[in-house]
Amino acid sequence: MTKYIFVTGGVLSSLGKGLTSASIGLLLEGHGYSVQHQKLDPYLNVDPGTMSPFQHGEVYVTEDGAETDLDLGHYERFTENAVLSKDSNYTSGKIYASIIAKERRGDYLGRTVQVIPHVTDEIKQAIRRGAGDADFLICELGGTVGDIEGLPFLEAIRQFVVDEGRDNAMVAHLTYVPYLHTSEELKTKPSQHSVMKLREIGILPDVLICRTERPLPEEARAKLSLFCNVPRDHVIEEQDVPTSIYELPQMLVEQGLDRVILERLRKPINELVLDRYHALLERIRNPKAQVEIALVGKYIELGDAYKSVNEALYHGGFDAEAKVRIRRVSSEKLNADTAEEMLGGVHGIVVPGGFGKRGIEGKIETVRWAREKAVPFLGLCLGMQCAVIEYARNVMGWDAANSTEFDQDTQYPVIDLMPDQAGLEKGGTMRLGAYRCALRADSRARAAYGDEMVSERHRHRYEFNNEFRDRLVEGGLKIGGTNPERDLVEIVEIADHPFFVGVQFHPEFKSKPTRPHPLFRELVAAALAHQGTPPIMVDVPTDEPADKAADA
Ligand code: GLN
Repeated sequence: MTKYIFVTGGVLSSLGKGLTSASIGLLLEGHGYSVQHQKLDPYLNVDPGTMSPFQHGEVYVTEDGAETDLDLGHYERFTENAVLSKDSNYTSGKIYASIIAKERRGDYLGRTVQVIPHVTDEIKQAIRRGAGDADFLICELGGTVGDIEGLPFLEAIRQFVVDEGRDNAMVAHLTYVPYLHTSEELKTKPSQHSVMKLREIGILPDVLICRTERPLPEEARAKLSLFCNVPRDHVIEEQDVPTSIYELPQMLVEQGLDRVILERLRKPINELVLDRYHALLERIRNPKAQVEIALVGKYIELGDAYKSVNEALYHGGFDAEAKVRIRRVSSEKLNADTAEEMLGGVHGIVVPGGFGKRGIEGKIETVRWAREKAVPFLGLCLGMQCAVIEYARNVMGWDAANSTEFDQDTQYPVIDLMPDQAGLEKGGTMRLGAYRCALRADSRARAAYGDEMVSERHRHRYEFNNEFRDRLVEGGLKIGGTNPERDLVEIVEIADHPFFVGVQFHPEFKSKPTRPHPLFRELVAAALAHQGTPPIMVDVPTDEPADKAADA
């Protein structure tokens, strides 16, 4: 029977509930349990698929093709075995869409449809579906206690704990303990108030996880315990992590959060085995080299817009025991005149995915620069499409080559909407989720993966246009892999280049710190080789703003 851990947040947003939830997953797996994760998002969008990355960061795609909140990426990265699905992310919009469909079908038999019980029942069912048959479901509620939108979810959680029984469900509340410089003390009042808010709704948090810049002194801990009604050892301090987000599980285990949870939910405290994780921490903390990789996109102002790409790059670095520094480059500002200034000195380049025309020429120029200067290059989805366009224009001499996403009337639509599954008319439905890719024997991808057949996640409408395939191949563009079911080009490469790989899929979604994705691993390795003998570093300089440094 599944045990449930709800993670709520108080005082303010962006405290890192996602990372905390993910860390709990890692620790419970370390105790030998199976875990599943879920995110409940109170906003009204049915899914994050159509939301701007500026608003909500990256859209994370699961194996089964659900477009979800980026926190799901943390959950999959931190755990070894949790495989998330469309049942792992519910928004208010998705809950209401289902209720309204039922109401229209007459399923409620003419009864008044209400928040309690209909919305709350729908939420409770969603939570059970998300759990599958895992030993634990770690269910994170987005937003902050006190938000109007979150109320039906909190009410559902309250009921859920009663339904399941106290031994089977618990609430961990993540809160903020600010440091006041004027009085030189940590203030617990905001946390007390957020717990009051929870109690008003009838939820008694079992564990308090306190984000803080400074160590929690014993008296603050005592106060939080007293006023928030939790035992002292259930007050967990979560300080900002020094070098990497992957240090968080270690911080939590040092305070016994795993034991607190297992005791509270009456599960045997098996031995905690974290060998792989500890080996990873060693590598993260002692890099022997560093490389700089440019990420050329249009959402670079917001770090979260390319969350999984950033992480996958860092993972590639962990494998090589190198610190990866990411130079964020705006594709809109990049052109033939600025390329040298903006890209000069980097050891590798990534052009990530994206939608729409803005910044597209800058991305194509970036590919040209990488190809001509022999700088290791990885193109992801739109980045691969740009690589094909660039090759068509500048190597084949088809000046007008383009994707029909950007120029409907181009004479050389090298990237185009493909016939839909029925094969009759041009589709335009997204290819979402996992698809197989057969790798060509002599391709770089085949060498990287060490496998003939792989499966990767997709999220795009446009495809490499097979009408131009033969001519491009004759012209030297190499097809590294294709989807066997539909003969779609999945990978393009340039053989006569240190590392030039464009993939129609999103490998970044499958990279984990303990299992870096082969393509990111190889990109970083190529970047190190490009750089020449890596300098041995004495100390690791931080080159990014403080909040981003925590990312590295
Ligand atoms: N806009 C392109 C398409 O729809 C690429 C999408 C992406 O990069 N995820 O095909």
